[in-house]
Amino acid sequence: MADFPVRFVLFEPTHPGNVGAAARAIKTMGFSELVLVNPACEIDGVARARSSGALDVLLSARIVATLADAIDGCGFVVGTSSRRRRLAWPELDPRECAAEVIAASSRKPVAIVFGAERAGLTNVEMDRCNALVYVPSNPEYSSLNLAMAVQIMAYELLWARGVDSKPQDPDSVPASVGDVELFYEHLERALIISGFLQPDNPRKLMRRLRRLFNRARLDESELKIMRGILTTLAGGSGRDPAAPDESGGER
Ligand code: SAH
Repeated sequence: MADFPVRFVLFEPTHPGNVGAAARAIKTMGFSELVLVNPACEIDGVARARSSGALDVLLSARIVATLADAIDGCGFVVGTSSRRRRLAWPELDPRECAAEVIAASSRKPVAIVFGAERAGLTNVEMDRCNALVYVPSNPEYSSLNLAMAVQIMAYELLWARGVDSKPQDPDSVPASVGDVELFYEHLERALIISGFLQPDNPRKLMRRLRRLFNRARLDESELKIMRGILTTLAGGSGRDPAAPDESGGER
């Protein structure tokens, strides 16, 4: 059994029926944590009806204003998408994703993020995800109903939870998303100051670097090392005020 519950995050859902059906989907698979980011619909009679016997999950859904709030404290965040991205993000299939999610949930909370019915997840949301999950489907018509995508992921998680999860390095605690965001801000400042990143011509540098580090899934000590390196390369002018202890526990 996972130590931390898996968080199912619906980003700006618009249809109450889908929210209700998503609550039902996760409860049928033994999960209960539903988070709604800035929903564009009420938890109304339609939502209640579609949740059926999962009214408890629906009514205890947490409503938050931003994706950052929804994934706060998580060590692993997966975004789901019905299409492949131009700037390819690390992509998992639902089964691989479920195994990783269950393994990671023994260390820190994890979140699976689902996009709005029409818009899906934009790059801004994907930039906060460690990996992308695509449910293999008809390439000419790959957009599943939101609640059905939730159902497939929850089903795979149910299976993955039943089997032994990958052994975890006991000394490696994944960095929290908030700390990783601070690192990206630090990195961007350092790149601008050094002249490597030109704010008037940024290309896709920060997105590419995010992809690199999100793929690496830094642990807490690696993150400290990276921030320590940035501070040291900035040269003697003292530590970045936002930087944590820079030794990374290596000294
Ligand atoms: N037009 C939107 C479709 C959104 S469907 C788009 O192009 O992205 C609503 C949500 O259901 C998606 O954001 C995703 O979270 C999930 N979803 C739908 N089809 C999916 C698929 N094939 N694989 C993974 N997630 C899918």
